[in-house]
Amino acid sequence: MIPVEFLEDYRRDQKELVFDLSRDIVVGSDPVTADCPNCYYDGVAGSSSATPTNFVGSVTVFEGTSEERTYTALSFNNICPICRGKGKLVSANESIIPAHVLWYSDKFAKSYPDSPAGYSGQNLIKIKTDSKYYEDFLHAVYFIIDGVRVLPSSTPVIRGMGSDDGIVEMFCKTTEVGKETNR
Ligand SMILES: [Zn+2]
Repeated sequence: MIPVEFLEDYRRDQKELVFDLSRDIVVGSDPVTADCPNCYYDGVAGSSSATPTNFVGSVTVFEGTSEERTYTALSFNNICPICRGKGKLVSANESIIPAHVLWYSDKFAKSYPDSPAGYSGQNLIKIKTDSKYYEDFLHAVYFIIDGVRVLPSSTPVIRGMGSDDGIVEMFCKTTEVGKETNR
């Protein structure tokens, strides 16, 4: 039986280690959309109906996010200038979290025992962070790591020494086969 104090110490040490070696990475989740205030959306066509709403004045969308924007009502004839004919406004849904990043080259990935099967020819990246970011990892659609866009290639796993509190890690892969990275 391992004493509880030891486990707590170990957990704290692990977290500190991961944070000491962390850098900021971008976590991209599903984009957030909002109806264009300036035109009606055509649900059948999946685009702007090119019919103006009775929008007057200005409105702020995606408030409180980095994509916050304020739009002023604009009259138009053919294509709504606010959504450019899409009928919706789309906001990237990105956040920045600290993570420990380990790049594996293709050559190493083939022999690396933990790498998911079937990814030879692509670069694997293992990312680790505090388990409080588990949900961010779980819902990530892409990451931008060291300026390279990568996709999740495994589900996140918590390494918790017998609890849900610890380190979460997952594998990612580069989006293009054989893409060169600077690592
Ligand atoms: Zn519009």
